[in-house]
Amino acid sequence: MNNQQNPKAIIVIFGATGDLAKRKLFPSIYRLYQNGKIDDDFAVIGLARRPWTNEILRDNVEQSIKETNASKSDVDKFTSHFYYQSFDVTEASSYQGLNDLMQELEGMYNTNGNRIFYLAMAPEFFGTIAVNLKDYCLEMSSGWSRLVIEKPFGHDLPSARALNSQIREAFDEDQIYRIDHYLGKEMVQNIEVIRFANGIFEHLWNNRFISNIQITSSESLGVEERARYYDHSGATRDMVQNHMLQMVALLAMEPPIKLTTDEIRSEKIKVLRALRPIDDSEVDENFVRGQYGSGHLHGKDVQSYRGETDELKDSHTETYVAGKVMIDNYRWAGVPFYIRTGKRMAEKSTNIVVEFKDIPMNLYSEDDGNKNPNLLVINIQPNEGITLFLNAKKAGHGSAAQPIQLSYNNNGVHGINTPEAYEKLLYDCMLGDATNFTHWDEVAFSWAYIDAILNAWSRRTPDFPNYTSGSMGPKEADDLLAKDGFHWWPIRDVVQ
Ligand code: NAP
Repeated sequence: MNNQQNPKAIIVIFGATGDLAKRKLFPSIYRLYQNGKIDDDFAVIGLARRPWTNEILRDNVEQSIKETNASKSDVDKFTSHFYYQSFDVTEASSYQGLNDLMQELEGMYNTNGNRIFYLAMAPEFFGTIAVNLKDYCLEMSSGWSRLVIEKPFGHDLPSARALNSQIREAFDEDQIYRIDHYLGKEMVQNIEVIRFANGIFEHLWNNRFISNIQITSSESLGVEERARYYDHSGATRDMVQNHMLQMVALLAMEPPIKLTTDEIRSEKIKVLRALRPIDDSEVDENFVRGQYGSGHLHGKDVQSYRGETDELKDSHTETYVAGKVMIDNYRWAGVPFYIRTGKRMAEKSTNIVVEFKDIPMNLYSEDDGNKNPNLLVINIQPNEGITLFLNAKKAGHGSAAQPIQLSYNNNGVHGINTPEAYEKLLYDCMLGDATNFTHWDEVAFSWAYIDAILNAWSRRTPDFPNYTSGSMGPKEADDLLAKDGFHWWPIRDVVQ
């Protein structure tokens, strides 16, 4: 890891006219600049096919940061670092032009030859770009050069392998930063600290004391304008292969011997290696897929997935998945990790519920005889915080118990929202800290696990739609837990 705190570099954004650049990358670079995190010696080269000019790019950057209420002179100073080149990634001649521009800018800005190539475009171009960068020696410079890649990394294990070997022809593993923006989220990063800095949790963090762990990432939106991409992907590839399994790995990993990238990644990889493979005949017992039908959400009637656009009218793509993930190692044997994610669900929320086992002879229950387990809830988004559910005496006569909550809200404490995931990840990349990016081995183990499920599903036509928009998913997802004697903790109860 590099300890340089104000890194300097030329950032080349492939796909600079796209949605990600506008909504996430430009504002993130601005916040880093505004907070003095990056050196004044930086430049951004925006690339895409559109015949834009430097001025058009700068106007777009200005638009994308207008919510920051920065002064006109600050904005002008910031956007003056942006340069545009019309560029077709499939045409070799474009790369010569890029080489010329980089050399020119490296003469103007003292960036020590440091280069970031950020691929913010469709994944089918990732391999071509990497190979061309190598052919034109763009990845060779007097400083460091790093490649940042957006998801999805492949469509399955074979395609991910093929992509990886193409990229590895041009870049070493330690130059490749595979983005999983969940790993940039404050509360996802907090999982390790909550676990490993608190004896009251870590001593209990195993199959003797935890009965099950539930991870929910629900969205209330439908596919919106991403229909084409999404229909090719589905919820399992879009969310489970990367974000959900990354959260499982962070919750289940052993404490690293040091807080270094290699040690942390190696513990996460061990978890992914220990995922119990799901045999074809066991898929339906352990995983549930769904697609939303029409329904009512936030006071409005909404249409089904198949009704969203004409091209989706016969789609069998899953917009929901729930599953029971088992980890076959000493710590976790017998503890189910239930995951669920989907679109058009009742609420937008990402949270983790750790349910502890009851004590052997608990004599205290609520008036109606109900006993409440201890829960540790980690709220990832939109709220950020943790809540511990305990039992305490109900005030008054008798010894009835009642559930109480101890809550910590991240936003309330700091008074401001924590930095956006992209801002943190971009900064980490500039510092050379790859801890919160996914290593190839993590990608490969995750795909191997997911492929077995997707392959089984591909052989059977699902009975879609099978959940109502505005619900929490198909009934079978509730049955998945009920047959183990558990139930999903309702979001309204766990999100504070
Ligand atoms: P997008 O809006 O469709 O943008 C694609 C960009 O690629 C545009 O700038 C387009 O510009 C450029 N492009 C297309 N073909 C090109 C070519 N042959 N040569 C050069 N440029 C070309 O896509 P996006 O939503 O920004 O997503 C970009 C990547 O980020 C994808 O991998 C996506 O999966 C990932 N991602 C996006 C989000 C998000 O919130 N948007 C979130 C997570 C991950 P021209 O048409 O001008 O060439």
